[in-house]
Amino acid sequence: MKRYELFIDGQWAAPSSGKYQPNINPANTNDVIGEFASASPEDVNAAVDAAKRAFPAWRGMPMVKRGDILHKAANLLEARLEEVAQAMTREEGKTLIEARGETARGVAILRYFAGEASQPDGEVYPTALPNRMLYTRREPVGVIGLITPWNFPVAIPVWKIAPALVYGNTLVFKPAEITPLTAWHIVDVLSQAGLPKGVLNLVNGSGRVAGNAMVSNEDVKAISFTGSNGVGRDIQRKLQERGGKAQLEMGGKNPVVVLNDADMKVAVEMVTRGAMKSTGQKCTATSRVFVQEGIYKQFSDALVEAVKSLRIGDGMDANTYLGPAVSKDQQQSVLEYLEIGQKEGLKVGAGGSPLSGGTFDQGFYVPPTVYLDAALDSRLMNEEIFGPVVALAPVASLDHAIEAANNVPYGLSASIISQDIGKIMRFIDGIQAGLVHVNDETAGAEPQVPFGGFKESSSHSREQGKAARDFYTQIKTVYLDYPV
Ligand code: NAD
Repeated sequence: MKRYELFIDGQWAAPSSGKYQPNINPANTNDVIGEFASASPEDVNAAVDAAKRAFPAWRGMPMVKRGDILHKAANLLEARLEEVAQAMTREEGKTLIEARGETARGVAILRYFAGEASQPDGEVYPTALPNRMLYTRREPVGVIGLITPWNFPVAIPVWKIAPALVYGNTLVFKPAEITPLTAWHIVDVLSQAGLPKGVLNLVNGSGRVAGNAMVSNEDVKAISFTGSNGVGRDIQRKLQERGGKAQLEMGGKNPVVVLNDADMKVAVEMVTRGAMKSTGQKCTATSRVFVQEGIYKQFSDALVEAVKSLRIGDGMDANTYLGPAVSKDQQQSVLEYLEIGQKEGLKVGAGGSPLSGGTFDQGFYVPPTVYLDAALDSRLMNEEIFGPVVALAPVASLDHAIEAANNVPYGLSASIISQDIGKIMRFIDGIQAGLVHVNDETAGAEPQVPFGGFKESSSHSREQGKAARDFYTQIKTVYLDYPV
């Protein structure tokens, strides 16, 4: 069985704990992908020390040169795209087509931030005094910790690593413990691209041990976290107490509003994709649909038919639409929500009960499920499920739909399906979400624009695009009075 080590100070190194975790294919639990080192708190501290030592030289390297390294990494990742995509499908369960798309997105993100290396990194201002130059410049924060989830094991790490590096920070990266192979590839690619030792360190391991060690280390000046709300808020509190900086991207309960004038084909396609692709395990997945009464029956019939026809199976199979849940815990959590749906008396349109027999007994499969006529106060309408489960409710009007859609603590993504530009504009204005889609699914993000949510979905900062700079830099204002 192949063993994968930690990456500390430019070396692949065995964990001081001597512990390794097996990495299991969720589509077929007999397939063990490898054994991955589990970092101890001492390993994490060694990684932070290495990042601290590497910081002055990395910060001192001209930004354009740092961008060159990202360019090389993009090319190397592109050359390895198929291998990385297959690793992702095998350890995360998403379909190979989605894994290829995500890896290509990782390449695009690296290229975008390589390009940012030649953008202005400050501003010159007018001044009230003669013989003065007044300007700002951006400086790196220092050693930054990155804590990431399993659901986008290439895109999310890369959209943190790329801006953090290009703006001159050094990093300790703790990926989700159940998707360590894709993390290994990302670090390997960046190291091959010529990153100096200590600039990027990899500490696989559990959140409780490795994650917590990073959060407690005073030399980690900032942490960018994507994951669940409970963990995120806890990290934020701890960082705040010691004067550190935290950026959080967390849960969602994303609505789609389908109006009477919607193109039915588009509506069904976008809700199916948004709710079921990646087995519903996206922070931006569709989980509530508010449908105007005039087309409620027609839409729900069509959606139920579409969902019933989806192929569930191993993501490696080209005919599969949705693969398994990522882990036994995640499968259990989705099945518990289906029990809640039953207890709450929700009407099942499709799915609703566990899958069994044949392939389904070999992995962590869950049924794509549609609930109809869901009460607005039901738990399935209010809590993040993180599975292929969508609940429909009829609404009388656009205003009613916006009010219902806004009535949850989350505000990550939302979509409207309509042909009426006036109503679309009212929706864009009234919906409480950081990402708004029109005639599109709720999931999907391009690297050059800000990504993040309103309310409990985020910490009011944004990732990606130019917005990423705000977290990964600090501003220095310079009053330069020159001798004449
Ligand atoms: P999680 O919170 O369990 O884990 C996320 C990361 O935090 C993992 O690396 C984990 O090991 C680490 N962690 C766990 N406990 C920790 C602790 N005490 N201290 C430090 N680190 C700790 O989340 P998950 O199950 O991996 O991911 C699913 C969640 O992520 C969902 O809520 C989803 O909505 C959210 N998510 C949000 C976005 C977004 O951009 N808003 C994107 C993807 C996923």
